[in-house]
Amino acid sequence: MNPIWRRELRRIVYLMLCGTGIGYLFHYPLAGLSLTLLCYTVWHWIQLYRLNRWLEEGQTTLLPRTIGIWGSVFIQNQRLQQRSLKNQQQLQGIINRIQDSTAALKDAVLMVDSTGALEFWNQAAEGYLGLRSPVDIGQPITNLIRTPEFKSYFDRADYREPLTIRSPVNPQLYLQFNITLFGRRDRLILVHNVTRLKQLEQMRKDFVANVSHELRTPLTVISGYVETMQMGAEMLPPRWGRMLQQMNEQSHRMDNLIKDLLMLSRLETGKAEDEVYVDVVALVSAIQTDARALSGGHHQVNFEIEDRSTLLGNYNELRSAFSNLVFNAVKYTPQGGTVQLRWYRDERYGYMSVKDDGIGIAAHHIPRLTERFYRADPSRSIATGGTGLGLAIVKHVLIHHDGELQISSAEGKGSTFTCRFPARRLKEVSPALANESEQ
Ligand code: ADP
Repeated sequence: MNPIWRRELRRIVYLMLCGTGIGYLFHYPLAGLSLTLLCYTVWHWIQLYRLNRWLEEGQTTLLPRTIGIWGSVFIQNQRLQQRSLKNQQQLQGIINRIQDSTAALKDAVLMVDSTGALEFWNQAAEGYLGLRSPVDIGQPITNLIRTPEFKSYFDRADYREPLTIRSPVNPQLYLQFNITLFGRRDRLILVHNVTRLKQLEQMRKDFVANVSHELRTPLTVISGYVETMQMGAEMLPPRWGRMLQQMNEQSHRMDNLIKDLLMLSRLETGKAEDEVYVDVVALVSAIQTDARALSGGHHQVNFEIEDRSTLLGNYNELRSAFSNLVFNAVKYTPQGGTVQLRWYRDERYGYMSVKDDGIGIAAHHIPRLTERFYRADPSRSIATGGTGLGLAIVKHVLIHHDGELQISSAEGKGSTFTCRFPARRLKEVSPALANESEQ
């Protein structure tokens, strides 16, 4: 048995003996015993009362000292309280350090619980997002950052890509939001100021657009002179003919390059404008005719129409995207090959696919194909007069149309490029109207 308990037992036995002895002296041994036991019980009650009061008062005062089993209980409670106080102080120290370090961060840090209510943020968040402490604690974050892009990004819960928007309190600032899920769908939001990057990007876009624009006039003049000289080539020495032809070819290439660069910078800077319901079947049929002309009858170009839906979009942009894919298919397919165009849909998407049985693309090139000037086979691309910008244009057109480009290819076997558009951009055409347009 525990020595404290043994001592307590000894104490009660002594007390009972003493009480009975004293009672015996007065000829009432039982009354002496009863009185002793009553006093002992009262003493226990008093100690219990003191302990309870101490617990109720929040354990803020020192526990009074006492003897016996209660003395030990009080001391152990006191030790427990001191230990938990020490742990609490240590934890508070860690929290303070974390708060100090996040307060010193240039990036904004916010913590949001699973219901979307704000729990914590640092000083930078107040500057970037206009949050006010403590009134905004517990407020839904989408009430405080009201930009529709942020709301839909936050609600979508797909945070693989960051979101860049203007600051709600200072439109000069561009902020990039990175959200990480943790715990029970709590969210940690890091907000980085990307204004400088945006400015540099804008400068690059403006530079490319301006240079391309400025180059157009001199190039038109040079091409004009070359064509005029070609018309009178018979008056020139024979070797001039070949030189003029090369000059003409190269100036055409430069012209195409400038057109593509201008198109790209237009796509990058603006949103899709003048959207109408485009008759994809008519558009692709026209491209099919152009592709046959480009092929010079060396390829079979087929068009499979599985759907008559029209597509909400910008006619010129869609024409440019689809033509790039179809002309690429012709360019990168040896003579005698087949190019298969297909317009079809399912419940969620509409698809425009261009399939060829040409040279194909090695798997490691595929993720980079839509980068500007990226070529899987540079010598072949230049020989076919490619600018290296076609697929970059396709990608941007599709971004404007909430679409996506899917590429599957096997080297030596052929490639399939599929443009996927969300069903909300499609509109069914009644069969009568479709027949009319076919005639
Ligand atoms: P380019 O003007 O060089 O054709 P694009 O951006 O249109 O530039 O295409 C990028 C690269 O992708 C091309 O250089 C080519 O290597 C490859 N490519 C595109 N389409 C096809 C295709 N249908 N078959 C094989 N390779 C292709």
